[in-house]
Amino acid sequence: MKKGTQCVHAGYEPKNGEPRQMPVYQSTTFKYDSSDAMGRLFDLEASGYFYTRLQNPTNDLVAARIAELEGGVGAVLTSSGQAANFFACFNICEAGDHMITTANIYGGTYNLIGWSFRKMGIDVTFVDMEASDEELEAAFKPNTKLVFGETLTNPGVRVLDIERFAATAHRHGVPLIVDNTFPTPVNCRPIEFGADIVTHSTTKYMDGQGVTVGGVVVDSGKFDWMAHADKYPGLCTPDASYHGLVYADKFGKAAYITKLVTHLMRDFGSIQAPQNAFYLGLGLQTLHIRMKKHCENALAVARFLESCPEVAWIEYPGLESDPMYARAQKYLPGGSCGVMAFGLKGDRARAERFMDSLKLVTIETHVADCHSCILHPASHTHRQLSDDQLREAGVRPDLMRLSIGLEEAEDLIADLKQALAK
Ligand SMILES: *Cc1c(COP(=O)(O)O)cnc(C)c1O
Repeated sequence: MKKGTQCVHAGYEPKNGEPRQMPVYQSTTFKYDSSDAMGRLFDLEASGYFYTRLQNPTNDLVAARIAELEGGVGAVLTSSGQAANFFACFNICEAGDHMITTANIYGGTYNLIGWSFRKMGIDVTFVDMEASDEELEAAFKPNTKLVFGETLTNPGVRVLDIERFAATAHRHGVPLIVDNTFPTPVNCRPIEFGADIVTHSTTKYMDGQGVTVGGVVVDSGKFDWMAHADKYPGLCTPDASYHGLVYADKFGKAAYITKLVTHLMRDFGSIQAPQNAFYLGLGLQTLHIRMKKHCENALAVARFLESCPEVAWIEYPGLESDPMYARAQKYLPGGSCGVMAFGLKGDRARAERFMDSLKLVTIETHVADCHSCILHPASHTHRQLSDDQLREAGVRPDLMRLSIGLEEAEDLIADLKQALAK
């Protein structure tokens, strides 16, 4: 089926007389007829639901839809995008291990990996996403367990060369994890370009209305853990907490995603509430239509800003003049997303005056939903950093992140025009 049809139908096929819309299973627990039937679930000998901290039918229906959209073998919904990226890495990394990540990533992920993972004893090397092959090779260590990047970076909207990063990771026997939040599977399926694990903050376009915080981890099922068994003892050697079960033997292609549920969800929680999964499911039904409109709107706005004398620079991979244009045509031929970055001529105060003059576009920490919004990282999310520190983090001091929603482009352009005039 085509992606639009998958958005509406994948993961849920009601049988005779069952609800047309996927129902919310608002239940913490599930009933069994015999003690033995329940015992088998705890041994992972039978599949079924017993407690919503690990699995819930509503979550699984929605996760199955996302897994199909991404072309994976399975997926798990998490309480947030942060939780998704945490679980995706921690499922195969522990104290004493090392990971490589591109430096050009979402600030929250940068903190998670650069501070919290290091605190847990997981070492990390940050590489520029445009690093040379030699620089990339040099980042690998014997204890490297994964490579991480974002399809489209937040806030810079730069395009990751997924094939190059995947090939390099695979040469070293480790998987590539890609955060695909901004393009969504409608505009890019990283697994088709060699990514092994895909994550999302579903808080953004997937929900799309700005109502629920959530995340998802998708397993491509393509990485051969057993071929690198020495690196991944958690998947390839007996798990004492499940009577000596070996995930890669018992679950094959679904080993990684099964361990994420039965081990990490069991121990850390961070499940998405079923009610939130239901909202996410509703959002997914219109994702293909919304992404198209976000991209059309954003391209019109980006073309307008590019033509304004007050605008010093603009980055949007859909613009022919953007250095990322050719790469975007390869990875995101149908469009990128609604987010762009730009700077005004002049100082911070001038940027603030511009933002304060906007009427329709609102100042928000959020991004990527139906309402257009704007953020100035130097004044908001990265406020504690000096201009030099900002540049180090890959954020220009004058960068404004503009997220174009589903309003009519004409109204958005009129709003930007009047604010620029002020
Ligand atoms: C927002 C975001 C996250 C974090 O997701 P939350 O749902 O806010 O926890 C991770 N990655 C990217 C690319 C994001 O934009």
